[in-house]
Amino acid sequence: MDDRGNARGYYGEFGGSFIPEILVATFDELTAAFSEAKADPEFWARYAELMSTYSCRPTPLTFCERLTKHFGGAQIYVKREDLNHTGAHKANNVMGQGLLVQRMGKTRVIAETGAGQHGVATATMAAKFGFDCTIYMGEIDVERQRPNVFWMERLGATVVAVTDGTRILKDAINEAFRDWVTSMDDTHYVLGTACGPHPFPEMVSYFQSIIGSEARDQIRAQTGALPKRIYACVGGGSNAMGIFSAFLDDSEVELIGVEAGGRGLETGEHASRLACGDASVGVAQGYKTYFLQTDDGQMRETHSVAAGLDYVGVSPILANLRDEGRVRFESATDREVIDALALTLKMEGLVPALESTHAFVQAFKEAPNLSPDDVIIINQSGRGDKDIFTVADAFEDPKWREFIKRKAEEYDAGA
Ligand SMILES: *Cc1c(COP(=O)(O)O)cnc(C)c1O
Repeated sequence: MDDRGNARGYYGEFGGSFIPEILVATFDELTAAFSEAKADPEFWARYAELMSTYSCRPTPLTFCERLTKHFGGAQIYVKREDLNHTGAHKANNVMGQGLLVQRMGKTRVIAETGAGQHGVATATMAAKFGFDCTIYMGEIDVERQRPNVFWMERLGATVVAVTDGTRILKDAINEAFRDWVTSMDDTHYVLGTACGPHPFPEMVSYFQSIIGSEARDQIRAQTGALPKRIYACVGGGSNAMGIFSAFLDDSEVELIGVEAGGRGLETGEHASRLACGDASVGVAQGYKTYFLQTDDGQMRETHSVAAGLDYVGVSPILANLRDEGRVRFESATDREVIDALALTLKMEGLVPALESTHAFVQAFKEAPNLSPDDVIIINQSGRGDKDIFTVADAFEDPKWREFIKRKAEEYDAGA
């Protein structure tokens, strides 16, 4: 699957590399280093070894007996990316890029982060490899994500609060690129998802493909067959590409990407680029894909209960797979996500992240209409501990909300 883009990173009409002249040599260097690493069988072996000793790989594939009985249709299995170090599939990507940075002989990494999860994962990787690390974050996000900022700093990273523009993720991206233009000799930019200029979509998908290759072996060992359907949530698209990639050539396996329906597609307050007709093709942030934008090309505000899905663009690889009809796209609303989370907690003792729960919503809608002989897999991209305030809020439990907030503030003040 990794070679489906042409040499310049096009997937159909999507992808490519729209970067300032000054960064061209750096991208060429990265593309060459990645191609060499991919061709070197020892590189993947080292990656797999690192992930098994540092991040709980292979992650289990869990049969959900009670949910299966509850819906009375397909057998429901869950791929447990929540058990990775730092709590999500993001570890697969950052550790892989860490090995590549080491191979290129660079000594410093930078990244941007919105909700802070990618920042924590990158800071963790930098500590493990002994790299200097700077994380760019909009000033507003720094305020909203105090606990993540706390951990990034304890892990040795410098967190820069970006005060330009609207002081959120897109301003942090601009600032990170500004840094890279002056530091590229010793610095690598760790992009967090399967988006951005070539080779990032391919490279991030490559490292995440460990999810699907494990899941394929596991489902065959546990059930003797391939699954009928696979569900994954889609923010930038990296966990979805990760689990889908091993099954792209199995035409009998249906692949379903689930986007953030937010307050409902009809309200316009969502982050659904491929499941509804609101997005249009454009070039931004260095690549071509479907963006949620106005007629004159301004990026629209997006909304989701899950910060990790709240993004205007989407992987060019998924955009192409959608247009080719290989991946079907659906959306789940904030309300549906909270209901599915409540059910999953009580019936299985699983704590999926709000992002991941979007995939559970769609699986729960479809499972009752399938036969008990059918097997489906849901990719649980991460764990929900980080969502404690949002969930307490949604369950309308002011007592706990206040308690948790106070404790967090005390903790922060003492730090
Ligand atoms: C960041 C994140 C996502 C969204 O990113 P993708 O690149 O679309 O996978 C999904 N789930 C979790 C738990 C995340 O932390």
